[in-house]
Amino acid sequence: MATETQIAMHKIASVNPATGELLREFEPVTEAAVNAAVGRAHAAQPAWSELEVQARISILNQFRRLLHDKKSEIARLITSETGKPQVEALLTEVLVVLDAARFYAENSYSVLRDQAVPHANLAMKTKSGQLIREPYGVIGIISPWNYPFSIPATETLAALVAGNAVILKPSEFTSLIALELAALLWKAGVPKDVFQVFVGDGNTGSALVNSSIDKLVFTGSVATGRRIAEAAAARLLPVVLELGGKDPMLVLDDADIDVASSGAVWGAFVNAGQACLSVERCYVHRRLYQTFTEACARKTAKLRIGNGMDPESDLGPLIHERQLQNVEMQVEDARLRGAQVLIGGLRRTDLGPNFYAPTVLADVTHQMRIMREETFGPVLPIMPFDTEDEAIRLANDSDYGLGASVWTKDRARGEALARRIHAGTVMINDAVSCFGISEAPHGGVKASGIGRTHGTFGLEEMVRIKYLDSDRLQGMKKVWWYGYGEGFKRQMEGFVDLMFARSWGQRLRGALRSAGVLSRKGKI
Ligand code: NAD
Repeated sequence: MATETQIAMHKIASVNPATGELLREFEPVTEAAVNAAVGRAHAAQPAWSELEVQARISILNQFRRLLHDKKSEIARLITSETGKPQVEALLTEVLVVLDAARFYAENSYSVLRDQAVPHANLAMKTKSGQLIREPYGVIGIISPWNYPFSIPATETLAALVAGNAVILKPSEFTSLIALELAALLWKAGVPKDVFQVFVGDGNTGSALVNSSIDKLVFTGSVATGRRIAEAAAARLLPVVLELGGKDPMLVLDDADIDVASSGAVWGAFVNAGQACLSVERCYVHRRLYQTFTEACARKTAKLRIGNGMDPESDLGPLIHERQLQNVEMQVEDARLRGAQVLIGGLRRTDLGPNFYAPTVLADVTHQMRIMREETFGPVLPIMPFDTEDEAIRLANDSDYGLGASVWTKDRARGEALARRIHAGTVMINDAVSCFGISEAPHGGVKASGIGRTHGTFGLEEMVRIKYLDSDRLQGMKKVWWYGYGEGFKRQMEGFVDLMFARSWGQRLRGALRSAGVLSRKGKI
């Protein structure tokens, strides 16, 4: 666990990655402050959860209206902290959150309300069952920098509408946008202690994991996810882990080359490749391979790289130097092992501190890091395959399993292959954009994580299930209570036959044998 002094050591800087301009500096929140705030959240949460769901939904609706009013301002703020083009900030962040607020407003009442559970077991027919969904209490959310608004906001809206208090620890690289989210939620009517933001780095995150939160929703790298899972296991803290990906794109022999190559270029380079669902590996049927790779290189050459504030920019910078170095090392490793760089493969220092040219690689193999490790940068490595079975084997030959895509003119064929791919989501003839479907659950298998966010499954992650069993015949002792003996055993054998014997005759005999149990007095 981080100590106070460790936590307070360095400042948190919000920097524009396109220019290197320092936007603002923050003191990181200390462990003591984290614990005090979690305490305040615990104190405030009961009143919040006692509100009718409809009252919380009204606040979500107000949040949605306020966000809509400020859509362009928020998109600009996101661009200044992440470098992504403003139109991407608008579509993949602001719009995603507006629609998530709409989805939770429309669906939370029906998902969260008590649900009757009919009992089929004859012995339990006198009881009525109900599922009750209760908020966990205080939910900690730790989020990354690549979608600094849509990721924490969608998770927060689900947690809040279910009646939880939320403590958000945003990425240390995107604190400003998280504070803007807080300002909007507070203005919409969420009490300040019910939603709190802690600016800080991994130490602050670690303090939050070790605080008295009731559940954690973490989005970030596999390495951090593993550390968090270990800490959470020690205290049996429930967690949702949304981790990295290495999404394969499968282009079948009947795919439309023009559509699929445009999809590959967008899917690999959107947000400069820094999307958990971005196309990280592309497998193309050998018959299309040459034409497809040439089309990708030609289309990549047309992309305009620059500051995301310029509406003409297609691609912005990477978030920081460390990310750039990782991309460089993977491309270099591929080059040394025989990959061909069709376009890109170099820094663009002429544009600013963190720009890397969108890169298309051919002749890659699974011996290269670029095909095995998450790249999280603007690189599209393309490899040929000969048969569907080989394509599936290559797609599944990965530690990750977040998303995947299959490209074909035959939808049924695509859907059949999708079932064989180990991934949380498989898209047919599109990539990445499933994150914008509020109804769709988001999450991975294998090293890509545990649990789901978004959609009704994401909402279910924010509640504990309580089973309420209520006996209708409260004046009657249960026939299975004490007073065992040979006669009772025989009656019960008959009862089991009544319910499960193979023939109707045996069931009838069982019914007659067990009938006497109804007048049983028992001994206690
Ligand atoms: P990261 O793991 O470095 O950091 C994520 C968050 O964890 C940050 O807020 C960071 O401060 C915090 N953190 C770091 N160490 C911690 C610790 N020991 N205890 C608690 N918190 C700690 O990831 P990143 O670089 O911010 O984000 C990129 C990664 O996130 C990529 O791997 C990407 O694939 C993944 N990601 C996944 C999804 C998804 O939904 N599956 C979405 C977006 C990003």
